[in-house]
Amino acid sequence: MPVLILIDHSDGQIKKASLEALTYGADLAKQLGTTAEGLLLGTVTDDLAGLGKYGIVKVNQVSNDALNTVDALVYAKAIAEAVNVLGATVLVLSHNQTGKAVAAFTAAKLKAGLVTGAVALPDTTNGFTVKKAVFSGKAFANVAVTSSVKIISINPNSYKTVAGEGVAEVSQLSITVDACKIKITNVNKVKGEVPLTEAEIVVSGGRGLKGPENWGIVEDLAHVLHAATACSRPVADSGWRPHHEHVGQTGVQIAPNLYIAIGISGAIQHLAGVNRSKHIVVINKDPEAPFFKAADYGIVGDAFEVVPKLTEEIKKLKNG
Ligand SMILES: Cc1cc2nc3c(=O)[nH]c(=O)nc-3n(C[C@H](O)[C@H](O)[C@H](O)COP(=O)(O)OP(=O)(O)OC[C@H]3O[C@@H](n4cnc5c(N)ncnc54)[C@H](O)[C@@H]3O)c2cc1C
Repeated sequence: MPVLILIDHSDGQIKKASLEALTYGADLAKQLGTTAEGLLLGTVTDDLAGLGKYGIVKVNQVSNDALNTVDALVYAKAIAEAVNVLGATVLVLSHNQTGKAVAAFTAAKLKAGLVTGAVALPDTTNGFTVKKAVFSGKAFANVAVTSSVKIISINPNSYKTVAGEGVAEVSQLSITVDACKIKITNVNKVKGEVPLTEAEIVVSGGRGLKGPENWGIVEDLAHVLHAATACSRPVADSGWRPHHEHVGQTGVQIAPNLYIAIGISGAIQHLAGVNRSKHIVVINKDPEAPFFKAADYGIVGDAFEVVPKLTEEIKKLKNG
């Protein structure tokens, strides 16, 4: 009765969030005295056997091109069937776009208890209790799961990926895959150096930057740090930046290792999307800006003076 982990991918490559899920699932399997296996729906160019280094013993692959695009209902049915065929009692997914789309449908099909946004391994000393973030990360809830099949989606960046030694067996799994009921006619790919949700570092700008013509300083800093760019909601609403860069309660929710906020006040709705970042650096000319309360490091100063200097210093450091 293995712990099964969904391996999410896009453009033929396994997502970073899935590596965290694999480590989490492998550690959970150890805790439960069982083994961890991956489930890959579709095809990737990445080395599957190499995923053994994250602690899984086997990758169950359903090679079907229809699964290279996520149709939540098709995915949920396939995942539920795989869980049944493999006899898994716990399914682990990342609480990313795919996880959010498919977890609830899968739970309904399996009549499984579902905990979304988990931040730690379950406490299995007396039952099965999972700690999860609630109220946009402002509090935690401990949820007891009593169903025989359990599903956990873990918050990206809340569990450290550990790569060791090991090679996983790769095996084809034969299950029914329904035809997609939706047809994608057009895909507009976001062009950028680093996708926002996968980025380790995010440099973000707010209304303090005065206008779109001033975004060069944000982009230059992002470039030297190999970071993604983001913005506050009014910036996107004003058309200064594209909407896919808007982070916050009503935008993209991110949890990078480093979030640099430039000319952003730190309204609660903005914080809701970024407060899971490991380290927050705030640059704001107003020492009373609320964002400083959430910051690990703060610079009180004019962004137009501070940011170019910061970029230059980082360049110097990188060039040795
Ligand atoms: C239902 C709802 C949902 C919302 N969802 C979101 C959301 O998802 N994301 C989001 O971001 N907002 C959201 N908002 C809006 C949110 O309440 C704030 O209005 C918004 O985040 C403010 O954006 P800002 O910090 O860029 O602008 P401002 O509040 O105008 O702050 C600009 C900051 O820049 C600083 N500044 C000015 N000039 C400089 C300079 N030269 N150098 C350095 N600093 C400078 C100022 O001191 C100030 O702190 C939502 C609001 C509502 C009501």
